[in-house]
Amino acid sequence: MVRVRLAPSPTGTLHIGTARTAVFNWLYARRHGGEFVLRIEDTDKERSKSEYTSNILDGLSWLGIDWDAEPVIQSERVEQHRQAIQQLLDAGLAYRCYASEEELNAMREAQMASKQAPRYDNRHRNLSPEQEAAYQAEGRQATVRFRIDDSRSIQWNDLVRGAMSWSGADLGGDMVIARRAPADQIGDPLYNLVVVVDDAAMAITHVIRGEDHIANTAKQLLLYEALGLPLPAFAHTPLILNQEGRKLSKRDGVTSVSDFRGMGYTASALANYMTLLGWSPPEGMGERFSLAEAAKVFDFQRVNKAGARFDWDKLNWLNGQVLHELGAAELNRRLTPLWQEAGFETASRSQAWLEQLCELLGPSLTLLADGVEQARPFFETPSLKDDAQQQLQQPGAKEALKALLTSLSDEPLQAEQAKALLSDACKAADTERSFSG
Ligand code: GLU
Repeated sequence: MVRVRLAPSPTGTLHIGTARTAVFNWLYARRHGGEFVLRIEDTDKERSKSEYTSNILDGLSWLGIDWDAEPVIQSERVEQHRQAIQQLLDAGLAYRCYASEEELNAMREAQMASKQAPRYDNRHRNLSPEQEAAYQAEGRQATVRFRIDDSRSIQWNDLVRGAMSWSGADLGGDMVIARRAPADQIGDPLYNLVVVVDDAAMAITHVIRGEDHIANTAKQLLLYEALGLPLPAFAHTPLILNQEGRKLSKRDGVTSVSDFRGMGYTASALANYMTLLGWSPPEGMGERFSLAEAAKVFDFQRVNKAGARFDWDKLNWLNGQVLHELGAAELNRRLTPLWQEAGFETASRSQAWLEQLCELLGPSLTLLADGVEQARPFFETPSLKDDAQQQLQQPGAKEALKALLTSLSDEPLQAEQAKALLSDACKAADTERSFSG
């Protein structure tokens, strides 16, 4: 059975990139009658906040993404993570590294000075028991590092990107899997190790996540092997880019699902739009669909490898479509409170009148809130500037306007036609003046 997961870190609000990863996971699970589960990766104690967890869960629910079973809380599984680290230490696949922060900084500076890529030089890989004892006697703390063989070639068949190959030499040297701690303990377990232990424990069959995790996948594959765990399949989805083609970041302003929601986008349009960010629907499906419709046909063959550029026009168009599809009665239900907030007198209007107004506004709305300004002339008598007022008081003005009304049809007017109609109306009303104000 397909079992996929979203593993958000509650160190910020639900980012659009994470939400899009959630959408792809959910679509894949639903397509295959599988399960979609959540794991809250809250091991960074300083930066993780429960309000972010709530924001993430609320955002997913709002988008219409439901999950199976209670979310797994990563910090509650730290004993299992430590056991796995102990297993690697016992098997000689990991070791304690006593190098101090200062020594590691000096090492990196020397590498940079000689134009080498910074990497851990595996200096404590083969310490003798005497050397270890000497470091311990100095009171040094130790990290735990996992051995990475530089000569290894790591390969996998990515469901989006096809055959992938990574060299062990490009993984930065032996990898820290537990933070610094007294040498008789195991410090806080780190990301790559805990993800592997948890994905295996949760029986995840497909790891679907952003392509910024590709180098992690290479490291994680080595950990699966070392721990003797069954491998999931991997699918790395393209990044979301801003309009300049760079990775969408905080600097782009609106990046959280809650931001889009606050701006008045509907869940249905945003979920639809996120599905299109990196996935092309099959021929004939069009671009406006629900998540449930997409789940019937979603597959990785149609996920693009190239980054997906964020396109506000498309999102706006989709939102307009969704509002229009709501129909006049529902639009009225949603707009009436906004009209009341704006101080428009709705109580004296009949339901039929309000719905007729919604019918009229519907096709031109991008955001629901646009319906406030567009409705203003229907609730408030427009205030006229002095010159307009004067013009309306000119002899013949009333007659000219009446004549104009009778010549208007339902067809949209071009500027030239409008001018001609005005001048005809003035003539018909026998006034030499034309209206300009
Ligand atoms: N917590 C990680 C993140 O938010 C999860 C990555 C993964 O899916 O393994 O980026």
